[in-house]
Amino acid sequence: MSLEERIQQVNQKIEDACKRSNRQSEHVNVIAVTKYVSLQTTGAVLEQGLEHIGENRWQDAQAKWEALGQKGTWHFIGHLQTNKVKDVIGKFAYIHSLDRLSLAKELDKKAGALGMKVNTFMQVNISGEESKYGLQPEQASSFLKDIQSFNNLNVIGLMTMAPHEEDPEMTRPVFRGLRELRDDLNGQALTAQPLTELSMGMSNDFEVAIEEGATWVRLGSILVGKEEGTRWA
Ligand SMILES: *Cc1c(COP(=O)(O)O)cnc(C)c1O
Repeated sequence: MSLEERIQQVNQKIEDACKRSNRQSEHVNVIAVTKYVSLQTTGAVLEQGLEHIGENRWQDAQAKWEALGQKGTWHFIGHLQTNKVKDVIGKFAYIHSLDRLSLAKELDKKAGALGMKVNTFMQVNISGEESKYGLQPEQASSFLKDIQSFNNLNVIGLMTMAPHEEDPEMTRPVFRGLRELRDDLNGQALTAQPLTELSMGMSNDFEVAIEEGATWVRLGSILVGKEEGTRWA
């Protein structure tokens, strides 16, 4: 299948999931995750009119960003080491993996030095799997209090990763849990603006995530494919 056909197919699935859940598809943003594909394919993705590009390691993203950085909006979706903040700040408009105070401090400091604000999602480990990064749900509210004075961080929502399931329906409680946590945190009014965004859903489970309220889906293999010779393929 060509890239164009895959994009069409994904868009149709998004429309269908929105219909099933009475949502408007304008509220679902697609991030094309390019970690499995080349610089050339990443360029083709942007040419197809997709705006949002997601990468999870700076080492893999660097060449792509240097060639194409101005052509899209870049999302850092992977675990972020504190000593890598200097590499990604100012380049990635969104950081989806805010999961600890030391990282929040460094992002706030480096964004401040550039005179900018960085959009972040607080990553929460809803599934409780030990292999997953993220704050525990019960830590989320005190974390938001701890970072209230960090004026260069725009916390716009929450991010989670569901376990890989053969039957995507099994992921539903994880996505529902993230939405309920967001609503609960908004009830506590811990952030200057309400948390509106939910970054959840990948190739195998994005339709369920949309039905549960995802506003950003992160799609790699189903959308842009996987190519030999990349780190993750
Ligand atoms: C790789 C990755 C994705 C995309 O994975 P696919 O299953 O290929 O869609 C999404 N989110 C994160 C955090 C990733 O690392």
